[in-house]
Amino acid sequence: MAQVRLAGVSKVYPDGTPAVQSLDLDIAEGEFLVLVGPSGCGKTTALRMIAGLEEISSGALVIGERTVNRVPARDRDVAMVFQSYALYPHLSVRDNIGFGLQLRRMPKAEIARRVEQTAATLSLTDHLDRRPRNLSGGQRQRVAMGRAIVRQPQAFLMDEPLSNLDAKLRVQMRAEISRIQRALGVTTVYVTHDQIEAMTLGDRVAVMKRGVLQQVAPPQELYERPANLFVAGFIGSPAMNLVSGRLELDGDAATLTLGSQIVSLPPGLLSQRPALRDYAGRDVAVGIRPEALQDADLAPDTEGAVLTSVTDLVEALGSELLVHFRIDATPVSTDDTKELARDTGVDQLDGATPGTAMIARFSPRSRATEGAQLRVWLDTGLLYFFDPETGVAIR
Ligand code: ATP
Repeated sequence: MAQVRLAGVSKVYPDGTPAVQSLDLDIAEGEFLVLVGPSGCGKTTALRMIAGLEEISSGALVIGERTVNRVPARDRDVAMVFQSYALYPHLSVRDNIGFGLQLRRMPKAEIARRVEQTAATLSLTDHLDRRPRNLSGGQRQRVAMGRAIVRQPQAFLMDEPLSNLDAKLRVQMRAEISRIQRALGVTTVYVTHDQIEAMTLGDRVAVMKRGVLQQVAPPQELYERPANLFVAGFIGSPAMNLVSGRLELDGDAATLTLGSQIVSLPPGLLSQRPALRDYAGRDVAVGIRPEALQDADLAPDTEGAVLTSVTDLVEALGSELLVHFRIDATPVSTDDTKELARDTGVDQLDGATPGTAMIARFSPRSRATEGAQLRVWLDTGLLYFFDPETGVAIR
């Protein structure tokens, strides 16, 4: 295993597409790093440059101690697991796993030993003599992993390896990949567009947008301290509610106007986020996670405000209710929110209905019903603030 370092790595395709722009990433030895972002953000291109499958336009790529910009893929000592598993249909599981070692003319006894050991790690021992077509999707996926593991490479590179599995299997394999990677301790770079996969797998997660790295941090930090509106809206499900508000300061007392509703902010807020002072009397983009919105009739007796609305829709998920409603404040509109809307296919700026659509995560004990009056308790200690033009977090 080895560290992988990208210093100012860029990729411009021959047709002029700037797919990756000056990417800096330091991936530690043994680390599991996830590259995540919407379709077309450049994550696959970044991974393929590390693998040596795509030429680097500028910058430096270091694996271990070596700068490998000009080193061909086969000499980089990294193993790639693809979305389509690329198994040989006519070979047994044993030969599929051992194939790469045979190509390298490794002694037969050593190949057999490594294949057995790899199969044991992946719970494939009982299937070694089967052909891929006689395996389940999850087992095929493990064979594909086996081919990578058996080579004992310096790094694993994985490109959406779970996207061909059904939802339940994906959750199982996610846990499996995490377990295997920890057991082997191999530096891993994993590409996905699925933020839940990114959050559950990564020691750190790198979020990309249009070829540019937005933030790289441990999952919880991304969730709690997103650097900008894009990361805030991309990480979390249901997504963070984003709405325009006006901040008013009177000494140390702060209020936020959301459409026709006025919310008092907690007394400690300005000392926690001193940069908010610069926004006195100005508009800010306000971020509200769905869990910061609860049924006011059931809410804890702590600091907060109550918003009133009408329930548009209730989605009962068993453990919680997702309650949709609108408030009469202006939606946030920046490059980031447009990019997020493009990704989800949901247009935040549906001009036909005034105001901003919101989602709250209620306890299943809530009596919220569609079409009825709604009182939502807002935990004002959990608000996020962003510059309404640049989208950068205000702290
Ligand atoms: P996806 O999740 O859809 O695979 P991605 O985030 O992995 O997307 P890339 O495949 O790296 O994104 O593509 C980044 C950008 O480069 C996109 O705009 C894409 O259209 C473009 N691109 C990818 N491959 C080529 C190529 N061979 N020639 C020109 N442009 C390309």
